[in-house]
This record gives sequence, structure tokens and C-alpha cells, in this order.
Amino acid sequence: MTDRVDANPTSEFVKDIPDSKFWDLSTRGWEQILNLVFPPACPLCHQFIKTEDSTEQSFCEQCREQAPESIQHPCQRCGAEVGAYVKTESGCAHCSKDRFAFEQVTSLMMYQGEARRLCKLCKEWNYQSLCHTLTRQLWQSREELIRSWNCDLIVPVPMHWGKRLFRNCHPAETIANTLSTQLKIPWRYCLRQTRSGTTQSQLSRTARIQNARELYAPLRRASVKGKSVLLVDDILTTGSTANVCAKALLNAGCSQVRVAVLARATGQT
Ligand SMILES: [Zn+2]
Ligand SMILES: [Zn+2]
Repeated sequence: MTDRVDANPTSEFVKDIPDSKFWDLSTRGWEQILNLVFPPACPLCHQFIKTEDSTEQSFCEQCREQAPESIQHPCQRCGAEVGAYVKTESGCAHCSKDRFAFEQVTSLMMYQGEARRLCKLCKEWNYQSLCHTLTRQLWQSREELIRSWNCDLIVPVPMHWGKRLFRNCHPAETIANTLSTQLKIPWRYCLRQTRSGTTQSQLSRTARIQNARELYAPLRRASVKGKSVLLVDDILTTGSTANVCAKALLNAGCSQVRVAVLARATGQT
């Protein structure tokens, strides 16, 4: 069996997104027709919902009340929530001792309380619309920052093909796909997971860093050369996975790496 990430037809399909009003209008037109046939459902409780803009995918009223708030004062370096007046140009208490190969991280929410439950659901194949909705929220709250990064390629943190086959979904791929549509830049698998390692979330901080080493390798050396990459994943904890991925991308010739995630875990939650 070939590694699935070697032959991903969807990522090639979105390689070149036409930047034109015609494209936007025709896409919205199709979405509106589809919404008539399949009314939009809340991505969390799956109840049909009425929205003012029928193309807008969002939570129903009840679920919106429970949805976690986005981070109001993020660390400029690692994306973690910090106090309103904390200066974070060179990091915060969560990251100042860490050395990262990537430049910056942005995150929608802290991995705590309800956000933990949402992130766990995002790993289920039947909750990819939830993952899509949270990514849209990430975009809405961090659009200015992400645009200022001037990235020209989105790369999802890969999942081993065996695990991908078993789970039948990959949140990082959903996030890459959604941000690709918003930013109008392509997304592509440029990394592969070299072995099926132990799940990072089950390991201690030191074990995570060791486990992540040499776990990822570049897939298409030429495709990242000179590119500014936006690396995406669902959760960033110690940053060891993103760090190893960033190193692999930089070794393959990309100019810089920035990271966008749905949730930032600090180990204190
Ligand atoms: Zn709902
Ligand atoms: Zn920080």
C-alpha cells in the first residue's frame, strides 16, 4: 500500500484557486442552491439552523452560548493567553525558555474546559464541519495577523497513513482546506510522518520532544523552496511537533514557517 499522503488528490485540486469575483459569485451561488436542498446544520448538535446568510456555517443559538471564547491577549510568539499588559515580543512565561524553528504561532482558543471537548470532537470523522466552523472562527479573529504573514503555501502537520486510514479524517487537513479557501493560497502535503509514533498527547513533555525528533520528513523537496509556509494543526502543546515539522520544511528550502492552530495547550490546564 502506498503512503496516502503521497497521492492526495484534494490537495492538488486546490493548487490554484482563481482569484476573481466570478469564482466567489459562482461558489456562493452553488452554496445557496445546496443549502436549499440540504439546510445548514449546527456542527455541534447537528440541528438544522436558520442563519441570516445561508452560506455562513455557524453554531445554533444554544451551542453558541457554550462555545469557548477566543484568546483576547495572545503571546506574540507562542499564541498562549497572557495578561492584557504583558509584553510578549520575545515570548511569555510559557515559551521564553523554548527555542522554536518557526517564527510565530496563532491560536483561536486555549485548550481548556469546553475547548478540550470541541478539539476531541474535531478528531471524529462526523465532526469535520465543527473543525471547519472553528477554523472559520480562527480566521475571523486572526485575519489581520495571518494576512500580515504573507504566506504562500499552507502545509498541514501530517498524520501517519495507517492512523489516517483508521480515523477516516485528519483535522489538520480540514483546517488547511478551510484556510486555503479564506486566504486564497494553495495547501499541500509537503511532509510525511516517517513512522507511526506514540500519540503525542499521551506523553510527558520530555517524551514528546524525543518522540517528535525525526518523526517528520519533507515529501516534495522542490515544492517548498523559497516559500513562506503556514503550518497548521489542531492543537499546539509544547510546540515539539511543529518545531520538528518547521525544521524539516526549512531543511527542504522554505524561507520561513508560521503556525496556526485551533487550540493552545500550556500543560497547566
Ligand atoms: Zn447546536
Ligand atoms: Zn509565549
